[in-house]
Amino acid sequence: MSDRGAHILLRPGLNICQADLPLDWYQPELRPYAEEYLALPDRTPETVLPWLDSYVRPAADYFGDDLLLMAHFYMGGEIVKLVERYGGVIGDSYALAQLAARHPHKRVLVQSAVHFMAEAVSILAGELQEVWITNPKAGCTMEMMAKEHAVLPVAHALLDRYGSDLMVIAYMNTSGRIKALSGRTGGATCTSANAEAVLRWARSRAKKILFIPDRHLGRNTADRLGIDPDRIATLPAPFAPRAMVELEDPARLDNAELILWGAYCGVHTVFRAQHARYWLDEGWTVLVHPEAPREVVRLADGVGSTNFLWKRVMQAPPGSRFAIGTEGHFVRNLKEQAERRGVLVEHLAETPHPCSLRIAGCGCATMSRNDPPHLAGLLDLLRRGRAPEINRVLPGDIVDEATGGLDRPGPDEREAIARDARLAMQRMIEITELAPPIATKQEDRRDSTGVNEHPQ
Ligand code: SF4
Repeated sequence: MSDRGAHILLRPGLNICQADLPLDWYQPELRPYAEEYLALPDRTPETVLPWLDSYVRPAADYFGDDLLLMAHFYMGGEIVKLVERYGGVIGDSYALAQLAARHPHKRVLVQSAVHFMAEAVSILAGELQEVWITNPKAGCTMEMMAKEHAVLPVAHALLDRYGSDLMVIAYMNTSGRIKALSGRTGGATCTSANAEAVLRWARSRAKKILFIPDRHLGRNTADRLGIDPDRIATLPAPFAPRAMVELEDPARLDNAELILWGAYCGVHTVFRAQHARYWLDEGWTVLVHPEAPREVVRLADGVGSTNFLWKRVMQAPPGSRFAIGTEGHFVRNLKEQAERRGVLVEHLAETPHPCSLRIAGCGCATMSRNDPPHLAGLLDLLRRGRAPEINRVLPGDIVDEATGGLDRPGPDEREAIARDARLAMQRMIEITELAPPIATKQEDRRDSTGVNEHPQ
C-alpha cells in the first residue's frame, strides 16, 4: 500500500480493542496509561477517542510537521484507523521502510508495527531523524526464527564452502543484522511484492542463493521462476544445530541452486488446500499472500503482497466475491471497506460450515501488542522528553520479546550494520524501480483488471 493511506473509517459503536493486554505486560513507564485505558467503561470510539485525544493531540501540536505516525496494515485493535485519524500513514513493509527517506523533513517517526519494520525505517533514515516504536516487544515470529545467533553459524559455514558463489537474499522480515549479512555477500533484501524480481536478479549474479527466512515465500517464488524443485534445499531451521547437520553431508546443498532457511509465519500457514477448494467450488475468487503454503498458492486465482490484495479487491466490480488468505486483521479491514462498494470478502480459513477445517481469522498477535495505551503513552512521553530508550529504534538493535532486554551495538558496529543493511535495501529498491510490473499466470487466469504487484 502506498502512503496515500487506506482511508479506513471509524464507525460509532465499533469495538476498538481486540483484546486488552495484561497490565504487567506494559513497560513501567507506560503502565499509568494502560491503567487509565483499562479503567475506561468500554472500547467504543465515543469513549476511547476523547481519552486518546487528550494525549495524542498535545503531542501532535508540540511536534507539528516534524511528526510522522506509521502503522502496518496487519495491526489489530483498530490501530490503523487511529493512526490514520491523526494524519499517519498505513503501509506495507516496503512502503513503510522508505517513509523516512521520502519525508526527510519529518524528524520524529513513530511506528506501530513489528520491530524489524521500525528497524528498516531507521536503516534508511537520515542522521537527524529519530525512529520510535510504540511497543518494542512487538516482534515477528518469522523473524524470531531467524535470529543472528541461529543464522550466522550456518551462513558462515556455507560461505566457507561456496565462497563468492553464494549470495544471501534477506526477506524484509529479518533484523538489520541479517540484512547486513545480505549486503556483505552482494545480496539484496526483498518483500513479498518484489521477491520474484529480486530472485531473478540474484540468479543472474550468483550460482547459489541462501534465502532467509521464509521457506514458503522462497519456494513459491522459485515456482514462479521455474527453478527445478530438485535444486531447492530447505534447511531445518529455526534451530541452527540441526541446520548444521546438513552441512555434514552436503551433497544436497552442493546440488542446490536455492537454499531456503526453514522459517515460516504461523499466521499464513494455517491455510490448507481444502480451504481454497471450498471457496473455489462455491464460485468465489481466491487470493492469497505468498507466505502461504505452496499447495494453497498453486490453487489460488491470484497471489501477491498486501498491496496487491487490497488493490485487487478494491478495484473489483460490485458483486465480486473474494476469499482472502492472509492476516486476519487486514482481511477484516478489507471486508469492511469492500462491503461499502458491494464487494464480498471472507477470510480463506473461515469456511461457513462448522468443520475441522474452519479456523477463525488468524491475526498477527505480536503486531497487535501495539495497542492504544502504547500509542498514547509513547507520544505523551516523547512530548515530555521522557520516552524510554528501548522504544527508540537504531540499526542493529535486538529486543528480547519476552524480557524487553535491549542489545544495542556500539557506535562502530552499529554504523557497519547500518551501512551493509542499507546496501542490501538500496539494491532492492533499485531492482524494484527498474523491474517491469509483474503479472503472473495465476493472476491472469481470472484477472483482467491489470492490477499488478509493483509496490508504490
Ligand atoms: S503476520 Fe507473520 S510474518 Fe507478518 S509480522 Fe506477523 S508474524 Fe511476522
